[in-house]
Amino acid sequence: MVHEPDNIMTCGKPLGTCLRIIENFHGWKAPGLVLGLFMVDLAQELIGPQVEADAIVETCHCLPDAIQLFTPCTVGNGWMKILDWDKFALSLYDRRTKHGCRVWVDLEKMRPYPKLYKWYMRLIPKKELPLDVLLGIILEAGRHVLSSQAITMTQFHDRVKKTGINVCPVCNEAFKATQGSICRACQGNGYYEGHRAKVVGN
Ligand SMILES: [Zn+2]
Repeated sequence: MVHEPDNIMTCGKPLGTCLRIIENFHGWKAPGLVLGLFMVDLAQELIGPQVEADAIVETCHCLPDAIQLFTPCTVGNGWMKILDWDKFALSLYDRRTKHGCRVWVDLEKMRPYPKLYKWYMRLIPKKELPLDVLLGIILEAGRHVLSSQAITMTQFHDRVKKTGINVCPVCNEAFKATQGSICRACQGNGYYEGHRAKVVGN
């Protein structure tokens, strides 16, 4: 390998350490997460260490995990929002000033890496591109396949506040008050069918 992961810093840590964080979290070095690592690293550098940035991510796949691993932003703390647009792009921003930066995978910049391009565009079956080959290309490409831009947020910048809750008279569970007097599930919009035997918690 030409790469010496521990001589390169990403997200404030040696690259090798970041790759181990990904592997420990995911069970393997998921290529989308490794690409995401470089994206988070670039966005962090652009926004600067003095900003406690919130994040917005434009795909449900892989990239939210990179943000959760390498920034303080998580779904659970409300600092990260996910848009289901299937765009491999993210923004970090200061929610007070609404200024931030967006980083995205630039298809034109990917053209010099045809295998990476085919993988990214889902044009090549997984078995035809071994993981170590793909990872080698991603590590070589790094930021070279990314573009970035300064942005001002126009929506989605506020953190989602907790709202009031009601207790559903049917199931007796607390739920978001804005959904009405009966919870979504008991209104018939649930995602499950309960089975007769209650086996948990009785
Ligand atoms: Zn209910």
